[in-house]
Amino acid sequence: MRYLLLLLTVLITLSGSVGADAIRQTKGDFRDAFRQLDVDLPTANVYRTASGAPGAQYWQQRADYKIKVHLDETRRRISASETITYTNHSPDSLRYIWLQMDQNRFADNSLDRMTETAMDAVGRKTWKEQDKDVLSYASIARNQLAKDIDYGFEIERVADSEGKNLPHTIAGTMMRIDMPQPLAAGQAITFSIDWSFNILLEERTDSRGGYEHFADNDTYIYYLAQWFPRLAAYPDYAGWQHKAFIGRGEFTLEFGDYEVEITVPEDHIVSATGKLQNPDKVLTSEQRRRLNAARDADKPVMIVTPVEALENEKQKSKGSKTWVFKANNVRDFAWASSRKFIWDAMVHKQDDVKNPEVLAMSFYPPEAEPIWSKYSTHSIVHTMAVYSRFSFPYPYPTSQSINTWESGGMEYPMMTFNGYRPEPLEPEEDEDGVVKLLDNAPDETYSRRVKYGLIGVIIHEVGHNYFPMIVNSDERQWTWMDEGLNSFLEYLAELEWEEEFPAYRQHVNVLDAITEYMVSEDQVPIMTNSESLLQFGPNAYTKPTAALIILRETIMGRELFDFAFKEYAQRWKFKRPTPADFFRTMEDASGVDLDWFWRGWFFSTDHVDVALTGLREYKVSTANPDVEYALKRKEYAAEVPETLSQIRNREESRESYLDKHPELADFYNDNDRFTPSNKDQNAYTQMLDELEDWEYETLKRAVAEDDFIYFMDFENIGGLPTPLPLLITNADGSEEMMTLPAEIWRRSPDRLTRLLIRDKAISAVALDPRHETADADYSNNHYPGRIEKSRIELYKDEDDTRDLMADMLQTLRARKAGKDGSIRTVPLKSTR
Ligand SMILES: [Zn+2]
Repeated sequence: MRYLLLLLTVLITLSGSVGADAIRQTKGDFRDAFRQLDVDLPTANVYRTASGAPGAQYWQQRADYKIKVHLDETRRRISASETITYTNHSPDSLRYIWLQMDQNRFADNSLDRMTETAMDAVGRKTWKEQDKDVLSYASIARNQLAKDIDYGFEIERVADSEGKNLPHTIAGTMMRIDMPQPLAAGQAITFSIDWSFNILLEERTDSRGGYEHFADNDTYIYYLAQWFPRLAAYPDYAGWQHKAFIGRGEFTLEFGDYEVEITVPEDHIVSATGKLQNPDKVLTSEQRRRLNAARDADKPVMIVTPVEALENEKQKSKGSKTWVFKANNVRDFAWASSRKFIWDAMVHKQDDVKNPEVLAMSFYPPEAEPIWSKYSTHSIVHTMAVYSRFSFPYPYPTSQSINTWESGGMEYPMMTFNGYRPEPLEPEEDEDGVVKLLDNAPDETYSRRVKYGLIGVIIHEVGHNYFPMIVNSDERQWTWMDEGLNSFLEYLAELEWEEEFPAYRQHVNVLDAITEYMVSEDQVPIMTNSESLLQFGPNAYTKPTAALIILRETIMGRELFDFAFKEYAQRWKFKRPTPADFFRTMEDASGVDLDWFWRGWFFSTDHVDVALTGLREYKVSTANPDVEYALKRKEYAAEVPETLSQIRNREESRESYLDKHPELADFYNDNDRFTPSNKDQNAYTQMLDELEDWEYETLKRAVAEDDFIYFMDFENIGGLPTPLPLLITNADGSEEMMTLPAEIWRRSPDRLTRLLIRDKAISAVALDPRHETADADYSNNHYPGRIEKSRIELYKDEDDTRDLMADMLQTLRARKAGKDGSIRTVPLKSTR
């Protein structure tokens, strides 16, 4: 899913930094930032190799579903039944199996509700409010909703294939079904479940699925997710993954085939995971004709037009229709239904023999216009084109974007629920009620935030089809494995949508966007369970994106990175990778030792901040006293000025005693301390004699070449080892880039001095001038230092005393003068 306002939160100190780096070894001041991760990663075995690939005996379970579901629109309830065939590919015999019952998160006394703190209750973005009690309207409304409606699965029956009841136990958001006989390795069991539940009002419950009510015209959109009991995963590395669903750690599921019959009011349009099996039964001939046209179209074709949707939403049919969908090799199934839907589609063609064409489709209410018909379906197509280049061809027949809420998004196979709608516009009127428009004013409006928010969220959610819907990582444990990798590719796709895509609000560059989080006390290692993250968005989304951008552009280079990343995607598509599989594959396929990088960026809370603290220039000394003493005299004169007293004495024409008695002058008045002596000459000759031949030649050549020798000091303030990209400006004005690899820190992680021998004099050095390392403080990156330039705004003192009499009068008078200039009195706002 996608979180908003990732980086705009003010960062406040919480209870000290979390145990930053459990895997760091220290002894004295030395820390080995480049130590291998071996002991910190799981031991390789026959299921997962040390190179990061699936092992020779890799296995995973499989769950196939046949589901019938009925939407009761008047009661806003689901009733359904499913038949699941569960195949045990593990080498283990299973006495019971576990299913995810995610609707139960919203039931009374759920773990989520019982562990909600006051801070959770006011929302995720209010850590800054921690030191005072606050409560939001949304929080109270959610509480009221929970009082009024019972949420959670109502399980009516669990039975085996012969209809005999199977013993089952609900444990919060999980259900255990006991096997009549242990399910042996290689065996399958078929069983069925009947259930119903009250559909969640999504905007009050933050439930990633439910319904939306449009109060203005009393219409609804239904979008069902986590709506059926789903097999919990049983991976080789963890046994049953049945950690409770408490809000953030998402879903860890098995692949299988689905056949789903969805019965809804007759006038609804349904969008669902997979491919529609019975268009003849549910679509008009005109709709089928348009849908066929879309299969050839390079622009969206309307299947249900905006005008038709406006007509449809006024109806309320009594009858019903059943839409049948099939989806193969997917890990989940979601659907949406409404009579409000506008529907458009176009084809995405790709270079893949198995799946050359994908139908990209969007479903949205009239409230989403004009921006959805313009951008949604194009964004789907763009996403598949970019993501497939970095991973594998899109393997499914459809890819859909459904507008279900005002912002944010959520992903399912072939289905994405996406936010952003234009804000209703309040026209500005002048005193005569006339709307003034500039000549270049557009005739339809939406904000910049809504436009780029929409394109961005669709790229993100459609992108999730690759990670984790196909590269099926364990979301309940590691949010970064899907959100981080996906946000990285989202960012690449956004920059390919248009060059200046405002991906991070005020920043185009993710590396500038992440530093505020990385210096904050809220930072925890990326390798932290989803539920324990203090700042969810920056940790799971933005920081991994920044890390991968640095890997690709600066550390590995595009060629090595892209090959390794694609290798990871190919190795693990339709399989379940762990963090170690990712870390190991990226190394294995690139030939680049990255343990220090994973350790610093994924296991620690260090940040990047390197200061360029010193730059000293030398020439090789000739050691010849005749040359060196003369140079020293010059240097001394240049560096040590005459004293003021000497200068003023001279200005006063003060005569010295020596001036009056020149006969007192001797050897020392003719020879200063920079006069070479015979002894110095002899020592020089002896030194040359004692040099080996090669040393003599080296000195001779160095003196002849007369190169500039620089000692450049760096201090690693943030602690993270990082490459050092340097822009060197030469005294002749020419410039050159030089990047020192991060391994330069391997024996001295805190400070180091770099030697540079060059034939040109340097006049200035800038560290990371292209902002490619996520350096948190650029004020210490220049030598010599720079004057910081900006503008300062003047402010005027404001009188904040309260004038009760004036304030009282204010509330009773209109805020606006009447046409005749008189002041109108308006009543206080009455209750609605
Ligand atoms: Zn996401």
